[in-house]
Amino acid sequence: MKSKEYIDRGEQVLLHTYNRTPIVFDHGEGVYLYDVEGKKYLDFAAGIAVFGLGYHNEKFDNAVKAQVDKLVHTSNLYYNVPAIEAAEKLVKATGLNRVFFTNSGTEAIEGAIKTARKYAIKKDGKTDHEIIAMNHSFHGRSMGALSVTGNPHYQEDFRPLIGGIKFADYNDLDSVKALINEKTCAIILEPIQGEGGIYPADPKFLKGVRALCDEHDMLLIFDEIQCGMGRSGKMFASEYAGVKPDVMTVAKALGNGLPIGAFVTNEKAAVLVPGDHGSTYGGNPLVCAAASKVFDLFEEEHILENVNEMGTYLWERLEEVKANYSMVKDHRGKGLIQGLEFTENPAAIAKAVISRGVILITAENNVIRFVPPLVIKKEHVDEMIKALEESLDEVK
Ligand SMILES: *Cc1c(COP(=O)(O)O)cnc(C)c1O
Repeated sequence: MKSKEYIDRGEQVLLHTYNRTPIVFDHGEGVYLYDVEGKKYLDFAAGIAVFGLGYHNEKFDNAVKAQVDKLVHTSNLYYNVPAIEAAEKLVKATGLNRVFFTNSGTEAIEGAIKTARKYAIKKDGKTDHEIIAMNHSFHGRSMGALSVTGNPHYQEDFRPLIGGIKFADYNDLDSVKALINEKTCAIILEPIQGEGGIYPADPKFLKGVRALCDEHDMLLIFDEIQCGMGRSGKMFASEYAGVKPDVMTVAKALGNGLPIGAFVTNEKAAVLVPGDHGSTYGGNPLVCAAASKVFDLFEEEHILENVNEMGTYLWERLEEVKANYSMVKDHRGKGLIQGLEFTENPAAIAKAVISRGVILITAENNVIRFVPPLVIKKEHVDEMIKALEESLDEVK
């Protein structure tokens, strides 16, 4: 069956919540995807910063297959070995203490918000606590996560949101300070804003919010869902500033495509107790076997080294593009999470690149986002740059 027939069928039955690119993918190999007609695409989106280890990674696939044959689900009324192992590896990687596994990023944010409220209510018994979030942030689509997402466009049709959320300007410590009062219980931010347009935090800003949280006994929540798990060139992007949060949220690349997220707390923020929170699927043996294998393969396959090398190379190549094309306004990012900001909406450019067989995605504020699998090589960067330059020549 041809793509168009599948797309027509899909449009009959799928809720139209996305303006999907008209491609029907069939399978993947390394950093390439193939559609149902056999057309090959170089993937510079990795399923929105998810597929870090590349497609059809044999060791990963075998670990998942073995777990399918063993045990897929038991619920959290019991223990399972993959969950314990994955949690141990996540604790080691984050330097924090306690893990709650979720099925998605947005659920990890819900858990972080509940943690902040519980932490505060335990102290003073009050029920009017406030959380400070950032303008242009993105934390997910469920009601709590949507409420701390600093993008009115996503929120408008879904009011009332959860109460007590205030928005400061990212990288502007004074704007955060101005919002703090005796009700404030937490600050939540992404160490690199992803959907908002690839804005890395100033290390001074992260140190500043850490100090404010310590001073006022508030929890610092870092959303590392997109920028974490090696994407920035460090395991977690907040390591660039040497700042540890009280609560970290992780998802996207954690399961290399299997649906798993987590919120991880230090001992101080480990306030949720039996009855406070739960998830039927969360942390089931299948997704945890995947996450556990991801951590092993990060070491075996020297993923961080590759991200740093390829991140530098991608940076150099995109700097050339910026120098040669006046429609490129800015270039930001770290490791393999980079963005080019254009003088106007780059949707037509992204479309032209995709027609040349390279998958790119956009972000807010006129940005094209580069979040390839973490295993790309120089030749793949070159292939993408060639398609990008041809496309820029075409649209200009
Ligand atoms: C994608 C994302 C989320 C939401 O994750 P889902 O798995 O889509 O619910 C939250 N925060 C950040 C920073 C993200 O990039």
